[in-house]
Amino acid sequence: AERAAAATWAGPGRLADGTPVAVLANVADGGAAATAAAGPAEGVGLFRTELCFLGTAVEPDVEAQAGVYVEVLAPFAERARAAGGPGDGTDVKVVLRTLDAGSDKPIAYATPAEEENPALGVRGLRVVRRDAGLLERQLDAVALAADRTGLRPWVMAPMVATEAEARDFAAAVRARGLVPGVMVEVPAAALLAARMLAHVDFLSIGTNDLTQYTLAADRLSADLADLNDPWQPAVLALVATTGLAGQRAGKPVGVCGEAAADPLLACVLVGLGVTSLSAASAAVPAVGARLATVTLEQCRAAAAAALDAADPAAARDAAAAALG
Ligand code: PEP
Ligand code: MG
Repeated sequence: AERAAAATWAGPGRLADGTPVAVLANVADGGAAATAAAGPAEGVGLFRTELCFLGTAVEPDVEAQAGVYVEVLAPFAERARAAGGPGDGTDVKVVLRTLDAGSDKPIAYATPAEEENPALGVRGLRVVRRDAGLLERQLDAVALAADRTGLRPWVMAPMVATEAEARDFAAAVRARGLVPGVMVEVPAAALLAARMLAHVDFLSIGTNDLTQYTLAADRLSADLADLNDPWQPAVLALVATTGLAGQRAGKPVGVCGEAAADPLLACVLVGLGVTSLSAASAAVPAVGARLATVTLEQCRAAAAAALDAADPAAARDAAAAALG
């Protein structure tokens, strides 16, 4: 029955009681964006810029970078035009992430070659410490792509840890008429979510890294897979802190890590205050279909039960029981 519901789910994302929960797609390039735009996802919750430049030795010029963003935005701009939306660039949500170079995704032109501990090193937004122009040029490229496609993308920074980082990033994004946000991937950002939201318009929780950094367990280590589990109560507690901050500020909080692709966990995340979920296009229908079967009240009960559980397995069982 679950598979049948997923096969026919056409969006938009809604709980059984009508509460809207945007279900978005994670995309890696223009082709994936075209696939997503042809499916039920309402937009893009995460475009991973760095995946387009993994093998690139020298920084592409602004024009070349803009070309990559145009490819991601264009399919959704076309879809919005076909649907006859307001056409002011705000009718589709596309979230572009600035370069998340470093750690497991080294990029020759952006990251230091030798780091003792790259997961804790100069990655994500931290590359601006070595070359501030790198971010400026990316944002110029995004602004060009926005002009050319008529969409007004949301732009977020990865690996943000301090309020000053959020403030400076937001100023650079706003200066170009774009919508600024930060990812919550470092526990510091979750703990200070309310203060981050004083500067930016949205948060997006990257549960892959948030789990790695909360449990201090390398996300690539098979030996530590039990720790690297977004059902860990400590991770859920940080999601709860972030979700509550979003609700108090009246600003959206998404999840774009693998956790959003797990339909049961998606319900728990919504119960913790998350307002959108972004997963690989293939996972989108199952998540949307599951959300359509539960109420916000049930999601909140599942979230409370999962938060109280002693470990991931107990959290899963408790959430499933609460959802009935
Ligand atoms: C995350 O950390 O959850 C995330 C979405 O970013 P990435 O997987 O690209 O590090
Ligand atoms: Mg990450």
